[in-house]
Formats: sequence, C-alpha cells, structure tokens
Amino acid sequence: MSILPAPSTPIYLLDLRAEHALIQAELDEAVQQTLADAAFIQGPAVGLFAAELGAHLGGTHVIPCANGTDALTLALMSLDLPAGAEVIVPAFTYVATLEAAALLGLRPVLVDVCPDTFNIDPAAVEAALTPHTGAIIAVHLFGQCADLEALRRISTRHGVALIEDNAQAIGATFRFSDGEVAFGGTVGEIGTTSFFPSKNLGALGDGGALLAHDPARAALLRQLANHGQSQKYHHQFIGLNSRLDTLQAAFLRVKLRHLPAATAARQAVAARYDAALAALPGIAIPARDPRSTHVFHQYTIMVNDTGRRDDLQHFLHRCGVPTMIYYPLPVHAQAAYAYLGYQPGQFPVAEQLCTSVLSLPIHPLLTPEQQDYIVGFVGSFFEN
Ligand SMILES: *Cc1c(COP(=O)(O)O)cnc(C)c1O
Repeated sequence: MSILPAPSTPIYLLDLRAEHALIQAELDEAVQQTLADAAFIQGPAVGLFAAELGAHLGGTHVIPCANGTDALTLALMSLDLPAGAEVIVPAFTYVATLEAAALLGLRPVLVDVCPDTFNIDPAAVEAALTPHTGAIIAVHLFGQCADLEALRRISTRHGVALIEDNAQAIGATFRFSDGEVAFGGTVGEIGTTSFFPSKNLGALGDGGALLAHDPARAALLRQLANHGQSQKYHHQFIGLNSRLDTLQAAFLRVKLRHLPAATAARQAVAARYDAALAALPGIAIPARDPRSTHVFHQYTIMVNDTGRRDDLQHFLHRCGVPTMIYYPLPVHAQAAYAYLGYQPGQFPVAEQLCTSVLSLPIHPLLTPEQQDYIVGFVGSFFEN
C-alpha cells in the first residue's frame, strides 16, 4: 500500500472557519451595520438580500423565511390542498422534503430515483399520479438539477404543481431542448432553498427562502410566512412565524457576492476528482446530466461492491480523510414514516444508493495537494 505523506493541513468536509476568515472584514461590517440599524426583524438587509438573490437567479421573486424546511411547508400551504392530498417526493432525499407534507396532513407518495443522477425519476412520477395528487416535489440532489424538462411537462399536462427543493443546488442551471436556460428553483410553481451553514450559500445560522415567478404567488407566500397577515394585525390566513433574521440577511448579502467564485472552486475540485477517479475500478464517479450545470454541494461516488463501502469509509477515516454517507437510510425505512406502509424492496434504486454512496470532502478551499492525498488513499484501498 502506498503511504503518502500527511497533507500539511488537516482535511475537512467543509472548512467554514477558513472560508469566513477570508471575508472577515465584510462579515464584521455586516454585524456593525445591523447593530447600527437596530432593526433585527425585517430590517433593510432582508429586502436587499431578497432582491439581490432574485437578480442573481435570473429575476425571480425571493421570499426569505426561517429555514429550508419552513420553505417547503410554506410552499405546500400556499397550494391550499385538501387534507390527505398526495405529494409525490423522491425516495432518496433529506427527510425535510416529506416532513413538510406529513406535518400538513398531506400524504407523501414516494417514487424511486434515477440510478445515475440520484434525482427523481420522471417516469416513476408519472406512474404515481392519481386524481388525489396535489403536488410534485423534485429535489436537485447534491447540486445538479433533476430532469426539469420532463417534470415541467408532467406538471403542465396534469395540472399538478411542481415544487423544486433547491436547498443543494443554488445557482445550478438547466438547459431545455428548445434552448431555454433556467435556474434550478425557478422552473416550477415554487422553488425552495436553505441557507443552513453547510449549504453552498450558507448563513451563520438558520435561514431559507422561497422562489416564485408569479407575483401573486410571491405575495401569498410572503403573507403566509408572516402570520398570514397582509397588514399588521389583519390575518387573512393561518400562517407561520417564519422570517429570515436581519443579521443573517446581512451575512448572506456578503456570502452571495462570493458565491460565483465559491461555486467555480467547487467545480474545479470536482473536475480534479473526476480526472483522478474516473478510471479507478471499484467505484463510479458522479454522473453529469449534460443539460444541467452541477454546483457540487456534494461529490458523491458509488462503491460498486456495496459490501466494501463502509470499509472504505473507515479506511479513509484512519487516513485523516473525513467522508459522509448521504443518506444511509431511505425515507421509507425511517421509523417515523412506517405509517405510509412501504415495504423493503419497493424502491430498489434508493435502497441500492443508500448502501453504495460515499461523499468525499468538497469545499472551495480544498487544495490540489489535499485532493492528491485523498485520491491516493481511495486508489490504494482498491489495490488490496
Ligand atoms: C438542507 C435541506 C433541507 C432543509 O433545510 P433546513 O434549512 O435545514 O431546514 C431541505 N431539503 C434538502 C434537500 C436539504 O438538503
């Protein structure tokens, strides 16, 4: 086994301390400005950030809220679906995607994902439609858009709203066959995103937002996020208290300015991994859908011999290389969702992915030297 010298700096899955140190002065300035304005809820930075993010995403309405899970909840609330209406969601995702539906008394209907892109399978969505389907939630998993062409066609043809959970793919774009290019999150009726610190556009705490192209939808979402009121103490709807703090908005304005460079750095890291790992027997590198750009929230490989995935993870851990398994358990195997009545084997692709995926460190400051170290040990694992 090749023994490589330890990298000169420790390897992290994500190095927010170092990323923030580079923009410390701007972040300090955001704190000072927020203290000076002393408008900690709905202060000026909130509207400014929403306008700047909307412009960044091709001119969509942005409605800030408290977190990405609330964004999903608010999106579904705005559709005003009857109790028990079905919401189609991928079987391989973060649990928040179906949690929102379940909490609202709607029925999550799981469908399997595509084995190459890990994203929701449009054919499975079509097969799951019933007269009770109220919405489809597509997740742009790991940073790459789901098949928005097929999903938009299904949504339009059947009159079922498409919600895009864009928590992991902010800034990714999708090219339609007619040449139209759109940002992920702006194609369906409603897009949602999260500013959880580890996301590509992360706050220094919780945060989220909704995206909508229709001004009436945007107004409704804004109202629902603020106790259902259009005017102070006049409540047309039962809403949520779900707001983005002014301080987080001020931080996010800073982070948004650096997002394009951070995304380009992630893409460069991914390209180096691709080049180093593509020919390695034993694993598959992440598939790229040629119609979507990929902002690489995660760089997720598949280990062909699933029995060795956990061994690889432990081996890398001993070498000082942290990795993560997103996600170790498909949602239909979660105890909380046993009531949905799904059986093992019902979503074979999602189940297979849970046993084979492994996400390698990827962040804007990962150095080529650290990547050489990582791929060296991945390679040496499969030599044995
Ligand atoms: C992070 C995430 C969420 C939830 O966002 P929070 O801000 O943590 O509530 C929802 N969906 C996906 C796919 C996510 O990755």
